[in-house]
Amino acid sequence: MADRLDGTTALITGASSGIGYATALELAALGANVAVAARRRDRLDALAAEIGDRAFVIEADVTSEASARSAVEQAAEHFGRLDTVIANAGVMLLGPIVDAPLDEWERMVDLNVKGVLYTAHAALPHLLAAAEQEPRRVTDLVLVSSVAGRVARNGSGVYNLTKHGIGAFGESLRQEVTKRHVRVSLVEPGAVATELTDHLRDEIKPMMAQRFADMERMEAVDIAETIGFIVTRPRRVAVNEVLIRPTEQDA
Ligand code: NDP
Repeated sequence: MADRLDGTTALITGASSGIGYATALELAALGANVAVAARRRDRLDALAAEIGDRAFVIEADVTSEASARSAVEQAAEHFGRLDTVIANAGVMLLGPIVDAPLDEWERMVDLNVKGVLYTAHAALPHLLAAAEQEPRRVTDLVLVSSVAGRVARNGSGVYNLTKHGIGAFGESLRQEVTKRHVRVSLVEPGAVATELTDHLRDEIKPMMAQRFADMERMEAVDIAETIGFIVTRPRRVAVNEVLIRPTEQDA
């Protein structure tokens, strides 16, 4: 029997679209107060309107340490505690390594690595404190990685680097804090129909389109429900890692 999240607070980064948006709806449905963070305020406002009183909008760019910290502090202050953090904001700029535009590498490292580190660093004191409190006496940091964090492929080298790095960081942190009842979980989705591929260069888009042409991709809600499962486990259970692919994705 899953626990509910009533009386707890969740912060979701990258909540203005895709997996983050769906996860905010899911955690709110499970009873949590939800702080939703991203850069596009209009999208966050629409999400908050769907959720109602238990939503709090935070305009934040987590590639800035100050902005990431402020997002965490605002969430904790507004709702009085912080129990669940979903470090989800990410960008996937695929393409060959040779002659790659360096700004794409910088954007991926800044968001997928530093954004997650800044969010985790600011959130951990709150998660450690809330893990000692009722109603659940356990808290969750969920890191949204990717199949690309497990398997490296030609054409996604720096995205692979960022997601592999998050996996290593998460496992080290898990060992550090698990006895204090902060659970660190890694979620590794395969292809999900979101805005993620919109940011690819025009010359790269056809390659992706071809790869997924005959495949039914997952929906954001599929990942949101998986995250909902992870964070509602009883205190004694930690789901460390979930690899979740579309049924038709063979690699
Ligand atoms: P989307 O592009 O739909 O969502 C990305 C989110 O990140 C948006 O809400 C965006 O909001 C936010 N974001 C981007 N830059 C920043 C920033 N600087 N500060 C704060 N938020 C930011 O893609 P997905 O939902 O698919 O991606 C979510 C996560 O899932 C990513 O980490 C991605 O790597 C991972 N993933 C996705 C897969 C897929 O197939 N879709 C597969 C495997 C993993 P805004 O622009 O408003 O700031």
